[in-house]
Amino acid sequence: MSRPGARVANALGAVRERIAAAERRFGRAPGSVTLVAVAKTKPASLIREAWEAGQRQFGENFVQEAVEKLDELARLSGPGGIEWHFVGALQANKSRTVAERFDWVHTVDRIRIARRLSDQRPAFLPPLNVCLQVNVSEESSKSGARVEGVADLAAAVADLPRLRLRGLMAIPRPCTGFDEQRGALRPLAEAYERLRGDGLALDTLSMGMTDDLEAAVAEGTTMVRIGTAVFGPRG
Ligand SMILES: *Cc1c(COP(=O)(O)O)cnc(C)c1O
Repeated sequence: MSRPGARVANALGAVRERIAAAERRFGRAPGSVTLVAVAKTKPASLIREAWEAGQRQFGENFVQEAVEKLDELARLSGPGGIEWHFVGALQANKSRTVAERFDWVHTVDRIRIARRLSDQRPAFLPPLNVCLQVNVSEESSKSGARVEGVADLAAAVADLPRLRLRGLMAIPRPCTGFDEQRGALRPLAEAYERLRGDGLALDTLSMGMTDDLEAAVAEGTTMVRIGTAVFGPRG
């Protein structure tokens, strides 16, 4: 029997090793890929275990579920503590809670929701970190801005006073096979490099989940969002 808490710690260690190995294999600088542990459907107690193993970036998908866990873990949040990333589908009627409680939002895909988040971000907090979600596999997904529209959206979001535009995010259609996975991620990496080439000061390419982590590192990700490999399968 492993001691309570060792399971998440061991899983986190294995994911960190996967990231480090992929960084070496694909010529990426050590530590250039940040791990966000996605905790949707998992209890606050497992987040606490991950915290005790040194994890500080956590992702959540559902506003109500997230708020309950944020309240429970309030003492682990704040400066130097947990950074909370909202990675779920963003509804306008939930934007205020997200603007008030999260440090990052990865799923901004239209200017209307960006304006709401900027208006609703409390003045006593730093600007909300934002990634634009891009739809890179249009046949299978409804959310995400079109690749062709992302430059205009980025320019508009970069002007909003209470947001800090950090980069791009995508959830590609699931595909098996390393080359297919890389091919599915490449349009996002290319869009990111185009925006940087246009002079936007972006530093975050949010792509890579449990099944395509290595492909994402190969394609230049800076932030992987990992759920299953850290917390186990979801029910
Ligand atoms: C659930 C989720 C993840 C984590 O997925 P896993 O395959 O469990 O690693 C990452 N990003 C988003 C947006 C998610 O909803």
